[in-house]
Amino acid sequence: HYEGPFDMFAPGASVDHRVIPWDEVSLDEGTGIVHVATGAGQEDFDLSKVHDLPVLSPVDEAGRFYDDYGWLHGLSTTDAADQIIGDLRERALLVEAGLYEHRYPHCWRCDTPLIWRVSDDWFIAVEEIRPKLLAANATVRWTPEYMGKRMDDWLRNMGDWNISRRRFYGLPLPFYPCSCGRLNVIGSKRELEERALRGLDQLEELHRPWVDEVVIACESCGEEVRRIPEVGDVWLDAGIVPFSTLGWQNENAVTGGYATGASRGLSGADLPDHPYWEKWFPADWVSEMREQIRLWFYSQLFMSVALVDRAPFQAVLGYEKMLDEQGREMHGSWGNMIDAEEAFERMGADVMRWQYCAQPPNQNLLFGYGPAHEIKRRLLTFWNSVAFLVTYANIEKFEPRFEDLATGPTGGEGVRPLDRWLVARTQELVAEATEALEKQLTFHLLRAFERFVDDLSNWYIRRSRKRFYSYDEAAFRTLWYALLQAIRVVSPVMPFLAEHLWRELVGEACVDAPESVFLAGWPETVEALADPALLAEVDEVREIVELGRQVRAEENIKLRQPLRRAFVHGSNAVQAHADEIRAELRVKEVELHEAPRVHVSYKPNLRILGPKLGTALPDVKAALEHGEVEPLPDGGVRAADHELAPEELLIERAKEPGWAHSERFSVGLDTHVDDELELEGRVLDLIHSIQRLRKEAGLEITDRIVLTLPEDGDLLRHEEWIKSETLATRIEHGPELSVAKA
Ligand SMILES: [Zn+2]
Ligand SMILES: [Zn+2]
Repeated sequence: HYEGPFDMFAPGASVDHRVIPWDEVSLDEGTGIVHVATGAGQEDFDLSKVHDLPVLSPVDEAGRFYDDYGWLHGLSTTDAADQIIGDLRERALLVEAGLYEHRYPHCWRCDTPLIWRVSDDWFIAVEEIRPKLLAANATVRWTPEYMGKRMDDWLRNMGDWNISRRRFYGLPLPFYPCSCGRLNVIGSKRELEERALRGLDQLEELHRPWVDEVVIACESCGEEVRRIPEVGDVWLDAGIVPFSTLGWQNENAVTGGYATGASRGLSGADLPDHPYWEKWFPADWVSEMREQIRLWFYSQLFMSVALVDRAPFQAVLGYEKMLDEQGREMHGSWGNMIDAEEAFERMGADVMRWQYCAQPPNQNLLFGYGPAHEIKRRLLTFWNSVAFLVTYANIEKFEPRFEDLATGPTGGEGVRPLDRWLVARTQELVAEATEALEKQLTFHLLRAFERFVDDLSNWYIRRSRKRFYSYDEAAFRTLWYALLQAIRVVSPVMPFLAEHLWRELVGEACVDAPESVFLAGWPETVEALADPALLAEVDEVREIVELGRQVRAEENIKLRQPLRRAFVHGSNAVQAHADEIRAELRVKEVELHEAPRVHVSYKPNLRILGPKLGTALPDVKAALEHGEVEPLPDGGVRAADHELAPEELLIERAKEPGWAHSERFSVGLDTHVDDELELEGRVLDLIHSIQRLRKEAGLEITDRIVLTLPEDGDLLRHEEWIKSETLATRIEHGPELSVAKA
């Protein structure tokens, strides 16, 4: 026991000062003795529990000493420090004073140093309700699933809920403690009115300051009691949203009556009655960020379980953070904050929605103008596809039939396999999009949409272009149908674009059609139009074409240069689609290859084979070098009468020039360009130049032209070809290439 340095103050004098042991004190620092201030730090406070020490709280909520601290009274802790040191020095109690650097908490907002103090708060005990919360959470479908697990962890480990806050604004806690020991709790405005002794006349609303003037009688002893000054944690209010907004236990619906008191007029929403709550509770789906697991999702769950013993939502979509393009948090002071209004202006609301909806919810969203630009670029492909149809539909006076959207395209003569493919592909898109939305995974929907747009634009339209230069009804009906179904499935994500394109393609063309895509309902698949086998085939063809293009790029042969032949290994679809492959790869023939054209060479793995083979090594090495090997089923080889496992070999798959490989297929090109092919290449270059001149001259797509060519005898061997591709009625000779309207 010892005498304290401030026992001249009443609180100090009231304490029996004791010396206690503590593991956390070391002889390496200071004197090896620390002063324990049980009301001023977490570790000290914890010690008070172990050693049953009195807890003093010397300062008020503003950090100033209470009245019973003598000359310190009213001083803030920062102001007091120097005076305390001075006082101890004067009384010759000070051994040494100095600066000591250590971590100290500061307000994140205004940087004011913070102090730790003890105060009494109000808590909701959670032990009793915990099992019910866990059971209710188990009924919720969480996406991503790990967030449901996190909620479960939180519910298992959370402590009592501190619900009181020392603020002025907020939901007043309706607690009226009495000195007789009774805690009076008011359950409703009506109950407050019934039990009020006075103060009702000035009660404008159930908030401070008015509510604090209402005095009630203790239900045990009849004494006058007042409300505690604390208000409630905001999450209490947030937690009752499924009740307060849906009219739970509300007898009468009030039109425009949702906002009352100070919020009157801020919302014109109706206050529904209890049957409305019955109808809409629990919510089908709630979405907010991951942090809400411990906040809003939790408080809603807590309130719902407490009030009606069930979860307030059936499904939750949680998501991770939104950061800037580089993955940094956005801050005004860092200059990387994106203002919403500016983003609407610069990237457009639809593109913003695309960024959000394309984001897998288990990853942070990297939001910015860079990704927005990329999205616009991809959307342009879709836009151009619509523009393509509109252009030729106007020229050919195409009349779409709205009923086609329900049945699939009808009535076109000469339906081709490619049309059947696009229609089947459209069924697949609708099915994928429907499933994505059923799972509330918009990013699945957008991935499906993007794949579809690629197929539609880079396969169907590219392969069918010429059919639109005249009235090929099947092509028009097929493309119109596919575009419209795509617009419908993407409309929840891209409402403005979808609506615009709907009006463009349906608008006046279909008299009886709904005027908005949002009045047209969700598209349905037509079972009879699905064709998985055909989809798989075309998928294969596209992969082969892609490999062929890869070879051209690697060999530096442009796509316009015709080649003699392509070789394909591993594809069954080739025979049925040879025409398409020839056209796409601009080759005269497609040959099937039995064996993969991959040259494999082997070297000994000396680290393993050296010790294993010993003196036999040179023979094996020589055999491998000369390719005198017999492949074994396990991927190894037999060489010089030794069986070698794959791990005993260094296997190199030589990349042959002129070939490209995917996991399924190998594609090779005969890259030799003979005179005839070279000439055809020049003709195609010429046609390309003429098309550009037509565009520059502002000619309509259907305009006929007179073409002027510099003298070149060779090119004219393909005169008819040139004329038909460029709509030239005749060819004249002149100093330079030019076009004129015929
Ligand atoms: Zn602050
Ligand atoms: Zn009482």
